[in-house]
Amino acid sequence: MIQLFVPLNFLGFIYREIREALTNIERLFGLLEAPAKVVDAADAQPLQLSGGDVAFKQVAHAYDPARPILDDVSFHIPAGHTLAIVGPSGAGKSTLARLLFRFYDVAAGSIEIDGQDVRNLTQDSLRQAIGVVPQDTVLFNASIGYNVAYGAPGASEEDIWRVLRLAQLEDFVRELPQQLETPVGERGLKLSGGEKQRIAIARVLLKDPPILILDEATSSLDSHAERRILDALNLVASKRTTLAIAHRLSTIVHAERILVLDHGRVVEQGTHAELLAHKGAYARLWADQQRAEQQGEQTDPRDA
Ligand code: ADP
Ligand code: MG
Repeated sequence: MIQLFVPLNFLGFIYREIREALTNIERLFGLLEAPAKVVDAADAQPLQLSGGDVAFKQVAHAYDPARPILDDVSFHIPAGHTLAIVGPSGAGKSTLARLLFRFYDVAAGSIEIDGQDVRNLTQDSLRQAIGVVPQDTVLFNASIGYNVAYGAPGASEEDIWRVLRLAQLEDFVRELPQQLETPVGERGLKLSGGEKQRIAIARVLLKDPPILILDEATSSLDSHAERRILDALNLVASKRTTLAIAHRLSTIVHAERILVLDHGRVVEQGTHAELLAHKGAYARLWADQQRAEQQGEQTDPRDA
């Protein structure tokens, strides 16, 4: 396994180098509005983890200074707990995830992990501590095994099978002629959105980070597949600090705390029952989705 992964890892390295070079060239010619790259502070320290407590303190953000996206967003996720974030498309939910990962720096306020401002940390240590199951998983043009083990270089073949099992992909991969060595992507097996998402889930399980971001992590799945994945995700999330961005409210009704974001502001917070009783933005979203489900309509996941 190790031997198989070395050359593939190297390819991954080359791939990133080329991507990096292209981005720089594009930026040079002004072809791409690439974000200014966040750099480590001169005295950046590695994150000192003690559980993974996450705090957003009066955070503001704008991709373009003329158009504020987040305004005065504050919340606290105690280590090991889960906060669900809901709200209309464009509310700024994914932006919260990008800021926690420090793809961008906040325009005002601060983000702290275990009391340490992310701007003072080395990006390596920050990103090592956070696992993401994104909205759209992009896989490398490499084997299934490589794609699962990406980010966890020391993983054994046994480890990979274990997380594939938890992500409900084991049977699927066992039946492939080349199993873990089966190439995926443009030159190999075409995977459905749901299968790609389960690869991302397996990857996160292998990385085993203390902090987890689920960005509409079940959006590509049908309800049946969603049920099974939710069980797997709940298992992963239970021991970690989790920021769960959801479009289908039915997936987060049991969340211990739900935050409703609208136009970049926190408009409501509470449990499902509390928010329904409040008869505000959440209650309206809930009623809309219930109605759509009863009518058997296929709602666009992006319009939750
Ligand atoms: P959500 O996840 O709630 O649907 P996002 O956080 O992705 O919303 O986006 C919030 C707003 O920021 C949207 O209006 C979106 O168009 C804008 N936006 C997102 N990413 C970028 C970007 N890289 N550059 C400029 N605007 C962006
Ligand atoms: Mg989003």
